[in-house]
Amino acid sequence: MENQNSNFIRDIMIKDLESGKRDTIVTRFPPEPNGYLHIGHAKSIILNFGLADEFNGKTNLRFDDTNPAKEDVEFVNSIKEDVKWLGFEWDNLFFASDYFDEMYNRAVLLIKKGLAYVDDLSADEIREYRGTLTEPGKNSPYRDRTIEENLELFERMRAGEFADGEKVLRAKIDMASPNINLRDPVIYRIAHVTHHNTGDKWCIYPMYAFAHPLEDAIEGITHSICTIEFEDQRPFYNWVVEQCEMKHQPQQIEFGRLNLTNTVMSKRKLKQLVEEGYVDGWDDPRMPTISGMRRRGFTPESIRNFVRETAVSKNNATVDFEMLEHFVREDLKLKAPRTMGIINPLKVVITNYPEGQIELLDAEINPENPEMGVRKIPFSREIYIEQEDFMENPPKKYFRLFPGNEVRLKHAYFIKCEEIVKDANGNVVELRCTYDPQTKSGSGFTGRKVKGTIHWVEATHAVPAEFRLYEPLILNESEEDDEGTFLDHVNPNSLQIFHGYVEPNMKESRPHDKFQFFRHGYFNVDPKDTTVDKLVFNRIVSLKSSFKL
Ligand code: ATP
Ligand code: MG
Repeated sequence: MENQNSNFIRDIMIKDLESGKRDTIVTRFPPEPNGYLHIGHAKSIILNFGLADEFNGKTNLRFDDTNPAKEDVEFVNSIKEDVKWLGFEWDNLFFASDYFDEMYNRAVLLIKKGLAYVDDLSADEIREYRGTLTEPGKNSPYRDRTIEENLELFERMRAGEFADGEKVLRAKIDMASPNINLRDPVIYRIAHVTHHNTGDKWCIYPMYAFAHPLEDAIEGITHSICTIEFEDQRPFYNWVVEQCEMKHQPQQIEFGRLNLTNTVMSKRKLKQLVEEGYVDGWDDPRMPTISGMRRRGFTPESIRNFVRETAVSKNNATVDFEMLEHFVREDLKLKAPRTMGIINPLKVVITNYPEGQIELLDAEINPENPEMGVRKIPFSREIYIEQEDFMENPPKKYFRLFPGNEVRLKHAYFIKCEEIVKDANGNVVELRCTYDPQTKSGSGFTGRKVKGTIHWVEATHAVPAEFRLYEPLILNESEEDDEGTFLDHVNPNSLQIFHGYVEPNMKESRPHDKFQFFRHGYFNVDPKDTTVDKLVFNRIVSLKSSFKL
């Protein structure tokens, strides 16, 4: 694995190892299995796995499955696949639900110490009693129940005697604390829901803020890396570890979230895009999910290199999507074979080329990486070019085909437009051109120059293909200030589909093969919709960028 750039979390680890505070590094990546992973998660994955790796430590993949109503094995499986695909191997695979017995016992311990109580207030009342940032909260009338009563009620909660919401277990800390998270937070709630791991064994579930520190302590996590919104939770995190008398003391360290321009990242919003049909599933190539980016054609290397280039800081940061595109171009530049594809075809007949003749021309597979060799492409009397490479009445400085003009066909000959064929509606349906045999590519011809070079595909052997071109999913820059209204900014043109042709040697392409189509950019063979008789290419990224690192 590549080395991690220096950052403040890495510095803490180095210091802890040098001072002897820790003798090893143990981290965890703790997703909740309530959605697919996105590029923001990649940052957490790379920090947790990358740093532990660097110090020969260990990393657990732990599913934080304490909220069964929203979770599913579909998500568990996709998360495992995505972590592996990104190039990381976990040392242990755990589920928070593995620890439900222990968590229950720790809650009982808190009750016995007089540090937790069963509350009958409703969720609304609890909120009301909590106070605000400027006013202290009030004690619940149930706060002073005896230890015996609390033990009995908690046991009855577990036994299923109460309905959802009827009672909760709360930590007993301080309703006047300036930190609202310490105003007797709820630590257990009733939910008569079947859990994807534990089935119907439990009808009470621990709250995330209580469960997470216990999970970390049980697993011997040394550095519990989380996002910045948990900063105010840290005092409660430490309280739980201490008061539950956990032997091991993990340290919570927060860092700023990674967001991208022109997309949304919260799972709730991504889920809404999926469920309301704005996209075609979690792995739609327009989605910022790892599975969507994989399907689009991003490589694990490009994602890792991108994430490593983003700063690790205490502030959330929105990074330009173009920076991500820059890294995939860099990665594919030397790897992806070059080819020619016509996205929007216009037929050209070369009238002075012998009928029935096919010649095979040499074309470099990757001029930037000559070791990739040369391919053979057929040329004949009939070819396809792009519609946009012809104009009947061109503006100044249009150097492609127009009546009377001559252009170079990439890897082939100069052709000159002699005649236009139109249909009954006046649309141009075919061009009739002549070619000059002396101008063959590679022949060293210097007789005259042309200003335009266009690409083409020989028509009789061309393989039909579908091209999917993407624009940003969301039209405004960042999701930060956009709670609730982001659907208004969904780009109606985020997907455009074209039917055209590719070179005959492309017939053998397999899902996830990646190519650079001359002038069009990098494309990935779609793994879902490609069949033996239909090739589908997803555009990963165009060739041009204004982005500078
Ligand atoms: P969301 O708000 O999108 O649902 P989450 O934080 O609830 O995300 P989890 O499944 O709990 O999602 O996340 C697993 C880990 O990934 C957590 O440690 C979380 O802090 C981290 N993470 C999630 N989103 C980002 C992000 N945008 N940037 C960096 N880390 C993230
Ligand atoms: Mg979460």
